Amino acid sequence: MASSPPVDLDLLRKYDLPAPRYTSYPTALQFDTSLDGAAVERRMESRSSEARPVSLYVHLPFCRSLCWYCACTRVISKQRDDAADYVDRLIEEIWLRSTWIDDAPVVQIHLGGGTPTFLPPEQLLRLGRTLRKIFDIQDDAELAVEIDPRECTDAHIDALRELGFNRASLGVQDNNREVQEAIHRIQPWETTLEVTETLRQAGFESVNFDLIYGLPHQTPETFGRTLSDVVDAAPDRLAVYSYAHVPWVNPAQKHLEGDALPGPETKLALLKQSIERLTEAGYRYIGMDHFARPDDELSRALEDGTLRRNFQGYSTGQGVDIHGFGMSAISQTRDMYFQNRKELPAYEECLSHNEMPTYRGVVLDCDDRVRRTTIEHLMCRRELSFEELSSTLHIDFSEYFSDALRQLGPLEDDGLVELSSDPLRITDVGRLFLRNIAMPFDAYLDRDNTDQKSTSATSRQRTYSRSV
Ligand code: SF4
Repeated sequence: MASSPPVDLDLLRKYDLPAPRYTSYPTALQFDTSLDGAAVERRMESRSSEARPVSLYVHLPFCRSLCWYCACTRVISKQRDDAADYVDRLIEEIWLRSTWIDDAPVVQIHLGGGTPTFLPPEQLLRLGRTLRKIFDIQDDAELAVEIDPRECTDAHIDALRELGFNRASLGVQDNNREVQEAIHRIQPWETTLEVTETLRQAGFESVNFDLIYGLPHQTPETFGRTLSDVVDAAPDRLAVYSYAHVPWVNPAQKHLEGDALPGPETKLALLKQSIERLTEAGYRYIGMDHFARPDDELSRALEDGTLRRNFQGYSTGQGVDIHGFGMSAISQTRDMYFQNRKELPAYEECLSHNEMPTYRGVVLDCDDRVRRTTIEHLMCRRELSFEELSSTLHIDFSEYFSDALRQLGPLEDDGLVELSSDPLRITDVGRLFLRNIAMPFDAYLDRDNTDQKSTSATSRQRTYSRSV
């Protein structure tokens, strides 16, 4: 398997269209409020007792200051005491839902945000000890935490290690001072390096850095320096995200408007540069923004077919239910996605009445489940075995998807897929276009507006980020 996909700028220009990121299928656009807390509760309590492995996600929304580019669900606060009240509510929610998980083996925990290390170490310990007391956390579980290096002390790292955390993801974004001033996030590189070193000395097995391209003042020259710094620091994984400018969704992004925001051609050059620089440095391109060292679990999961796609991007381990706790957190079971209330007062209000804070979601029908599996195979395995999928999904795959396969014809002409064999394969060139290749299999796109399963092209423009 080649580690670097060839980067063809003409193809990048051609296929740079609004497209879902397929962290779920159906996407969150299809969630509706008929699947509220009571409805989820009824479905969870009547399901069969088969215990699937579980991944826990806990959303910790607080941040001390707002980064202008931010698209996360966060609460800006200077009051660390807010965190204690929030942890109280989280623990109430965890107890409320604990019977759904029961003695299922917990194989992953992810603390996301916001800034998890906004919580003082003693609050992290209180939360972590509750999870350990209630759930059957496996000895070899992956316990991951998102870290803002500006908000992380040695005491935080000690607390996380005491709880068994072994993976960390650090927000870096860009090292250039002019960019950092423009995005309202001043983060000295020395701080990032110090936290990385302390994490490694404490025994964290995997460290990830997040970068963003497409921010104000970025040029290939300045971003090249950030990439060099990052390669020297040798994280195990990297995520290099395209900045999505959607101020109608995230009004703070208006601060970034003006001449300094790079145009589409500069963004493409930054993407090409990132892929080439990181793969030259020995990282494997996993897909959709993610890179990993060849010996990292993510690379191994790509090789052995156990890579999966979820709301955190790419992850390891298939056949896992995800239970999300905290405001805005999304859960995923075999036949449902459901999401908690996104506003802190509404989330807390539900729990003060001992009610589930879920407010919307979707129940997957048979067609959804067939398409979810198919799209996940494309995003994670880069191929579709008609024989295997016909057998596991109980369909005649080529007949079921005859329209979708026809729509892939022009992509085959451009060298992105090979349709003539079973399995259908995504080529090395096509690895940069996974979202475009998945779109024909999405029943909610490209339909007439009278159809229930419909997302019009106009709403797509305003709803999805661009595919490249
Ligand atoms: S630290 Fe992260 S979550 Fe908080 S405002 Fe900045 S980007 Fe958003």
